[in-house]
Amino acid sequence: AKANGRNTMCFFDPAMQAVVSARAALDGDLRLALAQRHFELHYQPQVDAEGRITGAEALLRWQHPQRGMVAPAEFIGAAESSGLIVPLGAWVLEQACARLVAWQQQPRLAQLSLSVNVSPRQFHQPDFVEQAMAALARSGADPRRLKLELTESLLLDDVEASIEKMSRLNAAGVGISLDDFGTGYSSLTYLKRLPIYQLKIDRSFVRDIVTSPADAAITRTILTLADSMGLSAMAEGVETEEQRHFLNRQGCRAYQGYLFGKPVTAQQFEQQLLDVASM
Ligand code: C2E
Ligand code: CA
Ligand code: CA
Ligand code: CA
Repeated sequence: AKANGRNTMCFFDPAMQAVVSARAALDGDLRLALAQRHFELHYQPQVDAEGRITGAEALLRWQHPQRGMVAPAEFIGAAESSGLIVPLGAWVLEQACARLVAWQQQPRLAQLSLSVNVSPRQFHQPDFVEQAMAALARSGADPRRLKLELTESLLLDDVEASIEKMSRLNAAGVGISLDDFGTGYSSLTYLKRLPIYQLKIDRSFVRDIVTSPADAAITRTILTLADSMGLSAMAEGVETEEQRHFLNRQGCRAYQGYLFGKPVTAQQFEQQLLDVASM
């Protein structure tokens, strides 16, 4: 009862009240934005060891009529706490499937994979797998081209149910990648049971890899771990040739980062590939 009393008091704290109303305003804006289709997906290339584009990661952007383009860091958290991430995430999956179908119809783009971020709250919906399968089936997108990026924090809740969902997706051909690997709740005990194909090495390790022995050691360990478990490893946030070279020497074979391309509109992304193909 004492703890309860404190919480109630907080609500009447003017500073707290301001935070609460700012949250409510953001939440209202997000709902409106979803209804008015002010969101769009941008696409960042993912490349192999030779620098050839193998696919893209879909990254959400909010085209705010007054504020311009808003980055996901500013709204994903709020959407996650309000629950709006559920319809928003469903929209992202639907858009991603539509993009895959467009690619499937172009010989130059047909082999590309598309990675989609799925937030824990969205993944924990009881019917998440059914919804994803339905989106794939409705669109006609090939499940083997769709990849889902999940974070380890998802395992903090019901581990068994999460593994079971991952297994069903995997059985349907949808590859699962563990995003931001090493930054959160890493349990090696669970890792060996997860039906995943890839670890994504977080940008925070890649950033100083050339100058920081600790970051280099962590990265090397993740690469060795992935290799010995038969998983692929993708380095994210690669910005310089030095970083790429360093990672390559450590055995990394998949990359993403500004060095290869920033997130751009679907049209710009596709044009890059069609330009290269015609050279
Ligand atoms: P993430 O999944 O780790 O995505 C990578 C982030 O790093 C993206 O930021 C990308 O633009 C940025 N990035 C890529 N390469 C570089 C680089 O070389 N240098 C630097 N400095 N940054 C790089 P973004 O687009 O702002 O997204 C931030 C986060 O928002 C994502 O982190 C992801 O967790 C979340 N997010 C984005 N789209 C979605 C979505 O559709 N659904 C959900 N649930 N989360 C999303
Ligand atoms: Ca990601
Ligand atoms: Ca990531
Ligand atoms: Ca990250």
